[in-house]
Amino acid sequence: MKDRFADRLLAWYDQHGRHNLPWHQDRNAYRVWVSEIMLQQTQVATVIPYFEAFMARFPDVHALARAPVDDVLSHWSGLGYYARARNLHKAAAQVDEEFNGEFPACQQQLESLIGIGRSTAAAIIAQAFGERATILDGNVKRVLARYHAVPGWPGQTSVLNQLWAHAETHTPNNRARDYTQAIMDLGAMVCTRSKPKCEACPLSAGCQAYANSETRLYPGSKPKKAKPEKATWILILEDAEGRILLERRPPSGIWGGLWSLPELDPGYGSEELQEACERELGITCSDPDLISGFRHTFSHYHLHIQPARLPVVHNTQVADTDRLRWLHRDQALALGLPAPIRTLLTEPEQTALL
Ligand code: SF4
Repeated sequence: MKDRFADRLLAWYDQHGRHNLPWHQDRNAYRVWVSEIMLQQTQVATVIPYFEAFMARFPDVHALARAPVDDVLSHWSGLGYYARARNLHKAAAQVDEEFNGEFPACQQQLESLIGIGRSTAAAIIAQAFGERATILDGNVKRVLARYHAVPGWPGQTSVLNQLWAHAETHTPNNRARDYTQAIMDLGAMVCTRSKPKCEACPLSAGCQAYANSETRLYPGSKPKKAKPEKATWILILEDAEGRILLERRPPSGIWGGLWSLPELDPGYGSEELQEACERELGITCSDPDLISGFRHTFSHYHLHIQPARLPVVHNTQVADTDRLRWLHRDQALALGLPAPIRTLLTEPEQTALL
């Protein structure tokens, strides 16, 4: 079964797989690593322009390690899941300091780097060094859960262990680079989340979910919990020089470490905003102008965002610090801003559609 699975997949890949992705050019561990981290939770077509801009700015691990974190975040702005960018930056420093700037060709050592788990380490070993290593990313989990009809949600350890065992069994001893790309491509292009193209699948002859017309049952879904609803005021405080007050988010939590707009507790009524700005920030403002509110969904809750524009009349207390900064709009947009905040500053009318 092992040979037929891998052989069929590789024969399909030779004809239909993706052979010219940007990280396949000048292939090395750094480029593979950055692509793998960007591809977590994000599709290839979205990743390509980000990858190219990232490589133009940070062409190697030293350049990334030496760059200010704000610069790294601004090149990530819009990709979401910003912990990935912060970890990338920290891991680059680890490679620089602990491994003399060279990525180790050892799975265990790669897994010691921040943000690199078992599957990502294996992808680097296979893709960059061409050695046998077993990957199990989201696409591969879906293919294997269907092929072997593995019931349950892959987030559960027992289900995950079964999938890892199948993944190990199928990984061939040669063509490691092509095989890892082939199984990721099959998951992304054929064994898709909804409406898999089983008739065009090289694995259909042995696939249990297909044989039983049960592809929709695999992989099992995460047990559902209703996401809590939260709310916040977002303030666009603009002074007479056209500068906007930005506030850096705490390093952990949502939008961690990114520059954003100041927030106020949703308990304040709109008529209390001026007083709250005076009391909490020491800034006197004229009447607020409310912009259309919108809802943004994070992985574990929904946030109702109500923006308010407040012209600043008098500011004696808030000067530039590491946490607060007065910036012109174009300077603000050059920073790593969360995508909805960027939209709010560029096209406020579009936020109603978010
Ligand atoms: S036959 Fe269908 S369900 Fe099975 S691996 Fe192929 S695309 Fe996925």
